[in-house]
Amino acid sequence: MRNHKRYSKYLAKLRQIKKHGNFYRGVCPYCNNENLFFNYQYDAECCLECDTWLVSACNDKNCPFCSKRPPVPSQAIWLESKINTDRKNFFITNFQHKSEGEMRHRMKQQKIQLWQSKRR
Ligand SMILES: [Zn+2]
Ligand SMILES: [Zn+2]
Repeated sequence: MRNHKRYSKYLAKLRQIKKHGNFYRGVCPYCNNENLFFNYQYDAECCLECDTWLVSACNDKNCPFCSKRPPVPSQAIWLESKINTDRKNFFITNFQHKSEGEMRHRMKQQKIQLWQSKRR
């Protein structure tokens, strides 16, 4: 019975994590963990085993992804997420359609800059 309880706790935790991103196969260069995680909100790959971001933040202080990124991925997951479902779905579909990492990130930034310049 205790095992079952532990298992459902584990599933609840997993569900919570999956709200923030997606697991994918890849090898962590720090701990060799083979189950890596992509965080939609911060547009970045990370390893949850050793709690490290696998991509360094860009130097742009106005970047909507990197500037708000917490120092460790676990903080990003346990922080109360303020993104609404529409925005979350946008991240999900966008991730599925383009998986060019760096390029995808730049394109998002360009779109946002364009959007901001239109508002002026
Ligand atoms: Zn790792
Ligand atoms: Zn950035």
